[in-house]
Amino acid sequence: MTIKTIVWGENVHEHSNEVVGRMYPNGMHNTIAEALNEDARISATTATLQEPEHGLSEARLAETDVLIWWGHCAHGDVQDEIVDRVQRRVLEGMGLIVLHSGHFSKIFKRMLGTTCSLKWREAGERERLWVVNPGHPIALGLGEYIELEHEEMYGEPFSVPNPDEVVFISAFEGGEVFRSGLTYKRGNGNIFYFRPGHETYPTYYNEDVRQVLRNATVWAKHHGKFWIEEDGPNVPPEKAPNPVTVKGEGLHKPGEKGFK
Ligand code: ZN
Repeated sequence: MTIKTIVWGENVHEHSNEVVGRMYPNGMHNTIAEALNEDARISATTATLQEPEHGLSEARLAETDVLIWWGHCAHGDVQDEIVDRVQRRVLEGMGLIVLHSGHFSKIFKRMLGTTCSLKWREAGERERLWVVNPGHPIALGLGEYIELEHEEMYGEPFSVPNPDEVVFISAFEGGEVFRSGLTYKRGNGNIFYFRPGHETYPTYYNEDVRQVLRNATVWAKHHGKFWIEEDGPNVPPEKAPNPVTVKGEGLHKPGEKGFK
């Protein structure tokens, strides 16, 4: 069974900025999907902001194992209804990989619940992503660090909740550091944030970066049942595994729905 993956791309700067259009003539989402499809275990397709429902219909999400998200200038154009839908699917068990400027996307902020703010500088400086968790599956096949000759700087403090695991820490030429590879669990969904990927640099052609994207996709796949409970079911006394009789006074009438 292949890992059904959607690479979601905002797909704006590729058409509105000459540098980005030259760097990613087929779109960043297609470049990332090509990297994933180099692994026979993964079957990656794409979706973009401009498609109906942003390419993320209920039916399509229902058969998706992992969603990868790249956005930057149009976070506000993503419909809240689609964010609700993606959040629900992540809680059920779909993996979510958020890239670079996706730190300010609606879905990332929704899943983490904080501002997700950070420092930044666009100076084409060198970035070294140190592998600080060499035994982690997302670091498979990498050396001690990944070096990118030109990248945008993201600096700490990164206003996210403490992650479950840190896989990479970046050191930038200008001196700042950043937690560049973070994992979270939300509901049944595995979430990975991966920092590099500024649109004016050839980051998604870098072999180590492409390896991380493949590793992360394999890691993010949920292996259990896709499951969510939203209604807070009431179990009447007579339906308890060991039926009980009601003692004392209560708030709710028998069979009444709870508050939520
Ligand atoms: Zn950027």
